Amino acid sequence: MNLILLGAPGAGKGTQAEVICNAKGIPAISTGNILREAVKNGTPCGLEAKSYMESGALVPDEVVIGILKDRIAQDDCKNGFILDGFPRTVPQAEALDKMGITIDKVIEIYVPDKKIAQRLSGRRVCEGCGNSYHVDFKPTKVEGVCDACGAKVVIRKDDEPATVLDRLKVYHEKTAPLRDFYSAQGKLTTVIGQEEVSDTSRLTLEALEA
Ligand code: ADP
Ligand code: ZN
Repeated sequence: MNLILLGAPGAGKGTQAEVICNAKGIPAISTGNILREAVKNGTPCGLEAKSYMESGALVPDEVVIGILKDRIAQDDCKNGFILDGFPRTVPQAEALDKMGITIDKVIEIYVPDKKIAQRLSGRRVCEGCGNSYHVDFKPTKVEGVCDACGAKVVIRKDDEPATVLDRLKVYHEKTAPLRDFYSAQGKLTTVIGQEEVSDTSRLTLEALEA
């Protein structure tokens, strides 16, 4: 089963990707996490991606398409995968088609823009393993320390308020057209993001079975 999670930055794609991963036993692949890791390690691809990411712009299609292709070629993807943050443009979606990948379902998590800003301002991310937290909605057990790996949790540079507005603009211009792309193929289901994470998770798992 090959799945895509669509939605604005901060809509909760990463959290739901984890839920589906646990329920279905297929890996969740976040291009954002892979890119942040590449930036941290100073790889050539990370060096190219850094400035785009910090300004809230998209990393060029050819870079992320290359990354994604390498990732889904790995062994753990042979029974399927969940894509979180890819595709983000119509050419990226077309690239999946060209790779011969069939997408079974696309779940859009919808959260209105005005809520997004509030969510992103409280978001924290682990420097070590990339896990996401939120100061109000999903706090770490010990303040500032990742539950999973014990590394420090920090504010992402691109979660600063001005950059968040740019990212939302990019989302509406470049990524939102994918709703029509997949709905024309009869693959799109929209889940309305709820206040409680567990409610969104229930709706997401229901959408998968539908
Ligand atoms: P969010 O979903 O909160 O926006 P991500 O972690 O998915 O955050 O992505 C962070 C940044 O990484 C994006 O703003 C963008 O610069 C880059 N990025 C991630 N995935 C892609 C992609 N598929 N295409 C282009 N850029 C990407
Ligand atoms: Zn961690």
